[in-house]
Amino acid sequence: VHLREIIAARPVVGAGVLVTLTRRCPLHCAHCSTGSTMGDAHVDAAALRRFFGTFSADSRPDIAMLTGGEPLLRPRLVVELAGVARAAGTRTAVLTGGFFARRATIPGPVLRVAAAVDHFSISVDAFHEREVPRADVFRVLARLLDRGVAVSLHVVGTGADDPYLAEVTAGVRRAFGARVPMLVSEVRAAGRAAAWAAQATTTDAAAPCAMAAWPVVAFDGAVTACCNQEVVDGRARPDHLRLGDAGQDGWAAVRERALASPVLRMIRTLGPPGGGCAGCRRWGEDPVALERARETGSGPVGALLDWESTRRQVAAGPVAFLRRYGCPPYADLVEAGHRPGAP
Ligand code: SF4
Repeated sequence: VHLREIIAARPVVGAGVLVTLTRRCPLHCAHCSTGSTMGDAHVDAAALRRFFGTFSADSRPDIAMLTGGEPLLRPRLVVELAGVARAAGTRTAVLTGGFFARRATIPGPVLRVAAAVDHFSISVDAFHEREVPRADVFRVLARLLDRGVAVSLHVVGTGADDPYLAEVTAGVRRAFGARVPMLVSEVRAAGRAAAWAAQATTTDAAAPCAMAAWPVVAFDGAVTACCNQEVVDGRARPDHLRLGDAGQDGWAAVRERALASPVLRMIRTLGPPGGGCAGCRRWGEDPVALERARETGSGPVGALLDWESTRRQVAAGPVAFLRRYGCPPYADLVEAGHRPGAP
């Protein structure tokens, strides 16, 4: 699956799910908001197996994004979950910090992951480059491309005029031509679960938030409505941003809650009350405002508003999506290597 297809599906409610496999990570990137270390915990494998086991041909996400922490610390689990997902028709993508790239050869377990998933993405940014040299990441990319693996880079910089972004994206194009699509974003949120497929940038008052379209399996197994790091980490997880628990709930129930919640419909169509994510997380402190949102977002009118908002974002396409949620001047790099006529 091409990166373009993943981003194109990002505004569609329940078209995908973001799944954190572990909080643990062997790297020490300065911008890691989860502050991951090798002492951190893995997500309960039994809960993940159970949750993936509820995907079916009739009710499944199209895409499952496997993130962390560093998901390739659990390569056998990635392969296993990718197999279960594929049997139901769900494609998988994995995002790694590339800790293994410093070795002369790609380790066998990583190659098995690359063969099992449908998309393989590596993080590159100034912080990662202090841990894993760019040349090593490029060597891995070249070998994966030779094997026919669909790859991409997730590049993060400080903003549109960050010279690092201009330099690294030009370097990728020199090395690979248009064969490696890139998701370029700004280091506003962090943590790979938050950053994958764009992060919440809803700092404007009343800006509709497409980040409330894909459920997220958090480090503690909770399923949240969005990828805001405070919410994923559980530091602020109000009821209106909870969808369930991977150890107890199935995909059909989680998707139905995401679709039918009047408050989530309002977040996706009109935006949370003033203050973007901060206002959204605090919404529950104002029961009157929350009740008003419930009234507006419930029933056929709420469903229609939600449907129309999604339709417009899908029609605008992935480049338009990344002009809003990524780093605008680099949004078109999501299309690199995409063949016209392919999805
Ligand atoms: S906290 Fe609210 S506004 Fe922020 S990403 Fe989550 S759903 Fe969107």
